[in-house]
Amino acid sequence: MVTAVTQWMEGVSAFAAWAAVFLYFIRMFAVTGIHHRYFSHKTYSTSRAGQFFLALWAGTTVQRGSLWWAYHHRHHHQHSDGPEDAHSPHVHGFLWSHIGWITSRRNFPTDYSKIKDLQKFPELVWLNRFDLVVPILFAFSMLGLGALLERYAPGLGTNAWQMLVWGFFVSTTALFHGTACINSMAHLMGKRRFKTDDDSRNSFILAIICLGEGWHNNHHRYQSCTRNGFYWWEIDPTYYGLKLLSYTGLIWGLKSVPQSILDEGMHADHHRSIEAAARSADLNAGTSSLRAMLPTAAAIAVATATAAQADLPKKADGPAIHKDLSGEMVKPNAPGVTSGQNTII
Ligand SMILES: [Zn+2]
Ligand SMILES: [Zn+2]
Repeated sequence: MVTAVTQWMEGVSAFAAWAAVFLYFIRMFAVTGIHHRYFSHKTYSTSRAGQFFLALWAGTTVQRGSLWWAYHHRHHHQHSDGPEDAHSPHVHGFLWSHIGWITSRRNFPTDYSKIKDLQKFPELVWLNRFDLVVPILFAFSMLGLGALLERYAPGLGTNAWQMLVWGFFVSTTALFHGTACINSMAHLMGKRRFKTDDDSRNSFILAIICLGEGWHNNHHRYQSCTRNGFYWWEIDPTYYGLKLLSYTGLIWGLKSVPQSILDEGMHADHHRSIEAAARSADLNAGTSSLRAMLPTAAAIAVATATAAQADLPKKADGPAIHKDLSGEMVKPNAPGVTSGQNTII
C-alpha cells in the first residue's frame, strides 16, 4: 500500500498538478454558470444548440445530468432547511448535507414532472439518462492527452496515467467537495444580509472556492438574476465569465439584480459597510480611481467588522417549509417557470 502511494506521488508533475487546478476551475464554472445559473434558474438565454453545448460542458463535472441537478436544486429552494430539503445541514447534519444525500438511492431519480421546461428537449433527457457517457469520454480524453504529451512533449514529464489521475480523478474529487460546500457550509458559515426563511449565508471564502456561489444568502433572497454577488465588492467570477461569454453570442439576456432588492440589502445587516463605501467614494471624488478604491476598501473592512457585532436578522423558530418572497415564488409546474425577470424557482 505504501509502495503504491509512493509510486503514485512520484507520478506527479507540475504540468499534471496545474492541469488539475485548471480543470477544477473551468468545471466549477460549468457547475455554477451552467448547472446552476442556466438549467436550474434560467438566468440567461441561449440557442438550442448552445444549450446542448452547455449541457456537454456541464457533463464533464461528473455531477450527474443537468436535469437531475436542476430538479434537486429547485427542490432545495422550495424546501430550504425544512424537513423535505434533501441536504440541509440543520435538518440532517453536516455529513449528510455534504455527501450523504447524494449517495442515497432515494435521491438518484430525476422527477421530470417538476422540470417540464427542460423535459421537452430529448437530447437533454438522453444526456441525463446516460449521465456517465460524458464523464467517461472526458476521462479517456485525459488518457489520450497524457499519451500525446508523453510522446511529443516529453519535457513536461507527464503521461497518460498521470493525466487520468490528476486531470480527472483528483480534480473531480476536489470539484465535488467544493460544490458540496454550498450545500453544507453555505448554510452554516458566513453572514446573513437578507431575512430569508432558511439559514443561507454569505461567505467570501466560499465565493472564492466556488467562483461566486458563496453569496448564497443573496441568492436565496433573489434567484432570477445572473449574478450572486449583488454589489461590486462581492467577487463573482462566474458572472464575469458569463458576461464574457455573452460577448461571443453564445448566451444573451443576462438578468440584473432589481433595484428593490439592492435597496432591501442597503437596510439589512450589511448596510453600514455599504454606506461607508458610498461615503468614502464621495470623499475621494475627483481623485484617481485607484486612490479612491483603497480607502473605500478599508472603510468596507472596518464597517463590515463592526456590522458583524450587530444582531443578525435570523429566523426565530427553525427552518420554515413555506416561503414568502413577496409573491415571487412560483411552483415548478406553474406556467412561466422557465423565464421571467421575477420568476423564482
Ligand atoms: Zn439556486
Ligand atoms: Zn441553499
